[in-house]
Parts: sequence; structure tokens; C-alpha cells
Amino acid sequence: MAERIIVRLGDPVLREVSKNVPAITAHTEKILEDMAQTIYADKGRAGLSAIQIGIPKRLIVMDCGSGLIELINPQIVEKSGEQVGPEACLSIPGVVGMVRRAAYVKVETLNRMGETVTIEADDLLARCIQHELDHLEGILFIDYVDELYSAKSGKKLKPQDANPILLHRRRVVR
Ligand code: ZN
Repeated sequence: MAERIIVRLGDPVLREVSKNVPAITAHTEKILEDMAQTIYADKGRAGLSAIQIGIPKRLIVMDCGSGLIELINPQIVEKSGEQVGPEACLSIPGVVGMVRRAAYVKVETLNRMGETVTIEADDLLARCIQHELDHLEGILFIDYVDELYSAKSGKKLKPQDANPILLHRRRVVR
């Protein structure tokens, strides 16, 4: 296993739309293992999409406090409700934004055996899943916000600190 370098905001690869994984090979499993090692190298809760290590495939690894979850070609098949809460991204270190998400999601995904599995999630896990699935479409959490907060102090960033990041926003219609 190897920890991978995380692509940072400003790299155009983060805006690419990822492609479905046609078959789960030894190479796919190696990518998933490297991704897991990469999130655990960072402290705390984290999720990572393959695009964030420069691989435009629909692969996600996350541990948002309830253990390791791997998603392969995931799709949200149902969502409901609403929640607003803080979000951060390994590709945009140091900042947090308040993002509106569905409160509940139901996701269909493949497991490593290539079987379709259904995952139901609410609260933080639902938020994590929606954040990571957005990455597969080239969408970042900053696309939804007008203000950013320091991850360290929790204080609102001054315009001179927030603007260079907000400059990278792409408005999402939803
Ligand atoms: Zn992210």
C-alpha cells in the first residue's frame, strides 16, 4: 500500500467528470487500498474520491466515524429531507463551509465482488456520501457557499483570505 498525493484546489483535474469502473481488477483494489491509506494518514473523519489522487474513476473511500466504506460506481437512488452543516475537503485544506444537503440518502454501489449493495445513510454519513459523489461530477463544496471559516479557529475568513479560494467556485444549480 502507498499513500498518494492529494490534488489541491486549482488543479483542473478536480473539475473532471469521473468514469465508471468497467471491471474490478487487482489494479482497482490497489487504488482502493492506497486511498484508504491516504485518508488514514490524515487525522479525523475523511473521505476521498479517486479524482482527488488524479484518477478519474468512480471510486470513493470514506471513514466518517462509522468505519471504512468503499463505493464503486455509486449512485444516489433516493434522497429526502434537509440538513445544513460544516464541510471540509482534503483538496481544500484549512477551510470549512456550511453546506445544505439532503438529510437522508440511499445509495446503490458495487462492492469488491462486483455485487450491487444498497447503503442507507443519514446525518454525517449522508453528508459525506453527497460530498464525495459530487467529486465524481467535478463539483466541490465551495461551489455551494459564499463564506468560508477557518478549520482551526472556526472564525469567518477575511475577504483577502477567502476570495482566492472562492475564485475557484463554479455555481451549481439545484
Ligand atoms: Zn472533498
